[in-house]
Amino acid sequence: MYYIGNHLPVASGYTAMANMALRLGGNTFAFFTRNPRGSRAKEIDEKDIQEFLRIARENKFGKLVAHAPYTLNLCSDKENVRKFSKETFADDIKRMEYIPGSYYNFHPGSHTGQGAEKGIEIIADVLNEVLSPEQTTIVLLETMAGKGSEVGRTFEELRGIMDRVWQKDKLGVCLDTCHIWDGGYDIVNNLDGVIDEFDRVIGLENLYAIHFNDSKNECGSHKDRHERIGYGKIGFEAMKRAALHPAFEGKPFILETPNDDEGYKKEIAMFKEWMEE
Ligand code: FE
Ligand code: FE
Ligand code: ZN
Repeated sequence: MYYIGNHLPVASGYTAMANMALRLGGNTFAFFTRNPRGSRAKEIDEKDIQEFLRIARENKFGKLVAHAPYTLNLCSDKENVRKFSKETFADDIKRMEYIPGSYYNFHPGSHTGQGAEKGIEIIADVLNEVLSPEQTTIVLLETMAGKGSEVGRTFEELRGIMDRVWQKDKLGVCLDTCHIWDGGYDIVNNLDGVIDEFDRVIGLENLYAIHFNDSKNECGSHKDRHERIGYGKIGFEAMKRAALHPAFEGKPFILETPNDDEGYKKEIAMFKEWMEE
């Protein structure tokens, strides 16, 4: 079984997203838990949730991969930003329980000059405060491109966070192909080597989801500019090899490529073709 979908606008609710995913050919999707820039979350609509769960069951959807808002920075040097981020994070985790067992992906944070080590400590402290044994949501650290002072530009940095968190069964990693490439992991010439390294440092058992994106820039550029599949520096062949790699088998693949609906439809169809060849 494989799961493929793309990032969808959350504004019209879960049922609308599920129907949109189906129209595009997908069987999972991603969405921002709230406006990516603002802080307001939509009211929970129980009827919408029930209808969504029915559609998801009927169509054998994979796990949803929710995305925390970009404004969140758990390890900012500014107290008010840290406070807002922690509260938003905690509220999202609570709301995620309406779709039990889903994934909640977030950018670990930017240390804003305090150093990666300090950033790692602060992020882990927040996770230790917020994660609970009762939650069914798995929180995913996203591998980052290393733009600015982003924490998570190496597998070791993510490991550093994981090592400090007690609720290890509620924590995992989402691998973004554009980000690791931009971060300096050469998945074009050495996909197996990169995956071995991921396994050695993080452990493949901690990999839950894939953000499946090509990149506009060279390996190690630390830019984080996504490209449509096959049109970037990673390219068609390497993206296809990654899609078919056994280490990724059965994980939800989420497209975050610069596309309109037609473009997503094509990429999803292409992915399915690869899987069924
Ligand atoms: Fe992201
Ligand atoms: Fe991503
Ligand atoms: Zn990105």
